[in-house]
Amino acid sequence: MTGHGIHIENLSKRYGEGDTAVFALKNVNMHVAPGEVVGLIGPSGSGKSTLLKCLGAVIEPTAGRMTLGNERIYDDGWNVRDLRALRRDKIGFVFQAPYLIPFLDVIDNVALLPMLAKMPNAEARRTALDLLRALDVQHRATAMPSQLSGGEQQRVAIARGLVNRPPVILADEPTAPLDSERAMAVIRIINDMARKFETAIVVVTHDEKIIPTFKRLYHIRDGVTHEEAGEGRSLE
Ligand code: ADP
Ligand code: MG
Repeated sequence: MTGHGIHIENLSKRYGEGDTAVFALKNVNMHVAPGEVVGLIGPSGSGKSTLLKCLGAVIEPTAGRMTLGNERIYDDGWNVRDLRALRRDKIGFVFQAPYLIPFLDVIDNVALLPMLAKMPNAEARRTALDLLRALDVQHRATAMPSQLSGGEQQRVAIARGLVNRPPVILADEPTAPLDSERAMAVIRIINDMARKFETAIVVVTHDEKIIPTFKRLYHIRDGVTHEEAGEGRSLE
């Protein structure tokens, strides 16, 4: 199904020039179908964050091709004029550190993006509350971020990454601070999202609890990826 999901071909990223250049990605190929969740694993410094940032149009690759949905984003140069709009409308980010907005309560942290995308406020808050409920933090809806535990903040950040139902979700260590029950709840929601909204999702993780749940995994080492079948363990 070319033209949908995530496709990258021969993507390379070099930081710096000359003697100090770092080749962080070397001809990486990756395909994630709509509705599919893949894991990306590799040791520290192997290029995971660099790959996620290229996929999220946060940094510019040095060479290669990248298609998100049915849009060619990068072809040895950006093809998209408005990268901010692309990131806002097409890509959901779930970062390791939650980065919640400190002066908005939980529900408005989650509802902000759909409000900015012109969804009526009541509907945006309802959508936000549904996701908070699915993530078992609805009882914290009117709390401020500083009043939450680390695990609660992370679940709110996950709700925020999912709320716009972007066609692509990029998650960097989304379950790292969570206990195993909560980590499994998060991975279940990520899989439900993928299935229900035909979202293509890449999850960077070291988390041994969730690695067996992926049906397909990309390993990365020194900027080189290879693909393998995962266990695809049932989430029930
Ligand atoms: P990971 O997320 O797997 O730990 P990164 O993508 O952060 O790996 O880093 C891959 C390589 O690129 C490492 O050698 C790292 O030192 C280097 N690197 C990452 N970001 C930069 C940067 N902004 N400038 C120079 N080198 C960088
Ligand atoms: Mg990293």
